[in-house]
Amino acid sequence: MKSVVKLLPLALSPLLIAAAPPPSAPPLPPAANQALAREALAEMIAVRSVHDVGTAEVAAILVKHLKAGGFTDSEVQVVTDPKYPTQANVVVRLKGKGKGKPILWNGHLDVVEAKPEDWTLPPFQMTEKDGFFYGRGSSDMKQDDAAMMAAIIRLKQERFVPDRDIIIAFTADEEVGLEQDGADYLVRQHRDLVDAEYAIDTDGANGELQDGRRVSMKLNTSEKTYVTLLLEVTNKGGHSSEPRPDNAIYTLASGLTRLAAFQFPYKLNATSRLYFQREAELQPPAIKADMLAVAGPTLDQAAAARIARDPSFNAVLHTTCVATMLSGGHQENALPQRATATVQCRIMPDETPEQTRATLVGVLADPEIKVTIPDKVVSGPESPPDARILDRMQKVTSSMWPGVPVIPHMEAGASDSLYLRAAGIPTYEINGVFEDPRDSRMHGRDERVGVQAFYESVEFTYRLMKETSKAN
Ligand SMILES: [Zn+2]
Repeated sequence: MKSVVKLLPLALSPLLIAAAPPPSAPPLPPAANQALAREALAEMIAVRSVHDVGTAEVAAILVKHLKAGGFTDSEVQVVTDPKYPTQANVVVRLKGKGKGKPILWNGHLDVVEAKPEDWTLPPFQMTEKDGFFYGRGSSDMKQDDAAMMAAIIRLKQERFVPDRDIIIAFTADEEVGLEQDGADYLVRQHRDLVDAEYAIDTDGANGELQDGRRVSMKLNTSEKTYVTLLLEVTNKGGHSSEPRPDNAIYTLASGLTRLAAFQFPYKLNATSRLYFQREAELQPPAIKADMLAVAGPTLDQAAAARIARDPSFNAVLHTTCVATMLSGGHQENALPQRATATVQCRIMPDETPEQTRATLVGVLADPEIKVTIPDKVVSGPESPPDARILDRMQKVTSSMWPGVPVIPHMEAGASDSLYLRAAGIPTYEINGVFEDPRDSRMHGRDERVGVQAFYESVEFTYRLMKETSKAN
């Protein structure tokens, strides 16, 4: 499908960013709504919803609060893939006036494992300490689930009737993914329940703190496609006392040396162009100049090469492929009959795995090196950084934190957004929790979220739900 992309003007309108004089503190939800969000977060953290346990118990907590908050049986549904009975998804709908397709919100209910002996606090119990809530899932992503739940209940209790339906899908098994992924299951098997004009996934992007200062609000509009390739050389082998020039290890190693010297050409898409334009404003003068040169009408190759010295910027500038595993031979006194290498690629969303494979075959330049893609690849297109959508996100961000710019971003990692985008639902990742990326504890020890940051995100989610539900 061809979509119309309205690019934003180069600089953000100053009016949009600095809409109001800085308040003494960002606005927070009413006390009762804060208490509800906190209670739900504590209850959800207390459930060890790792893959082997499943999400049914967390789903029950959400259903309990949603129904107490006024949602009827038909508005809250628990949906479970019969093949994975312990992996429950919850879909709740706040009915609107039918002026436009619904907006879907998405978040996952599962967490990665946490071993009590590795933590200084109990992982499956919420502890408030030094201005933080600690516990597994407090930052990835039960805090976002609690925020979405509290926000939609507040809208319901205020008798707010949106122009169009607001749907939240709380889903199973994001951390493990593949065939039992809850978001994937819902879009494939229950499309009517979750069909939307676009989706907001609160996993992934968030507000960025630098030295305690709020510098930007990230908005992921696309992600690179994860593709693993296998390189393999086979040979008849023989006795190591009689070596020959044809040798599986040497053949593979020569090819890998050519790969090491290769890089994919720099390129931009609508997201990365906006990213560099806006990120430039936060950088020291030399980097700022390079970023603006890269994001200009023609990509400045020399400036791109300088920026690409930073691996996180390099990842945005092109497809990357890197050797990550190597093995060969079967005994010390035998010529190798087989040598293999694993090459991990993160490809730009508009390129196909087959194109990448063909490029590598050319770079390796040796028909003896067989290149295959052993696993299934899921890829989704870039979701257009449409000005109409970005303006709404900026408006709400400015209403909470004046002066903080929303910066579109292409993610090098993978999330549920991939499945939604692959199913034709443009998906935008954003959430209102500010954290310092240098102190991110997602999947790690003593995971935590700032207490104040959490309550602010509950208010942000409420405001964004309201704003994005307006008819176009
Ligand atoms: Zn997550």
